[in-house]
Amino acid sequence: MNEIQRARIVLRILNKKYPKISVPLKSRNVFTLLISVLLSAQCTDVNVNNVTKNIYPKYYKPQHFLKLGRKKIENLIKKIGIFRVKAKSIYNLSKILIDKHNSKVPKTFEELEKLPGVGHKTASVVMSQGFGYPAFPVDTHIHRLAQRWGLTNGKNVTQTEIDLKKLFPKKSWNNLHLQIIYYGREYCKARDCYGLTCKICTSCYPSRKKPIKTKKA
Ligand code: SF4
Repeated sequence: MNEIQRARIVLRILNKKYPKISVPLKSRNVFTLLISVLLSAQCTDVNVNNVTKNIYPKYYKPQHFLKLGRKKIENLIKKIGIFRVKAKSIYNLSKILIDKHNSKVPKTFEELEKLPGVGHKTASVVMSQGFGYPAFPVDTHIHRLAQRWGLTNGKNVTQTEIDLKKLFPKKSWNNLHLQIIYYGREYCKARDCYGLTCKICTSCYPSRKKPIKTKKA
């Protein structure tokens, strides 16, 4: 079986398992989505939601965060990892949005990736979940599952994104990145798995009898 056939199996199983997808990070507009995605680096979505539920009812525009200033932003997000760096990014990006983008979140990868604290993965999530643009944000979890399912050669997240985009139809990308994340959280966790238990692996590799090990992300 080749990777195209394995991709078809993965898509079929994930669509059946997760027919309805909800976005895990809570937000009230594209700007707060951007902030939540930025906060979620090295931090769980649950933790981010717990913190932002006390912020977004009151502060949800770039002007609000500019007015708050870095120290107050730090206080608001101090339960989140590397909060000082993230507070600095939030403050600076709010200023840039006001000065250069008419207080709006830009709709291109190029402009998004120029914002402080915003890398390609964050930009992809905003393009996908905020603007509905077909994107395939790949983090280390998606990278791990794509390796285990034989959909990529496992070099790095950049290569994995290229490989997954070739294998799956564009219209599936936005849902699929969330479906893979959900599957990873529920079944295919970071600890070692030897590819012999779930339907995805037993269907993709029906003749596998011995445990396998994949490279770490
Ligand atoms: S068998 Fe292991 S590697 Fe395969 S999908 Fe299940 S948890 Fe993931």
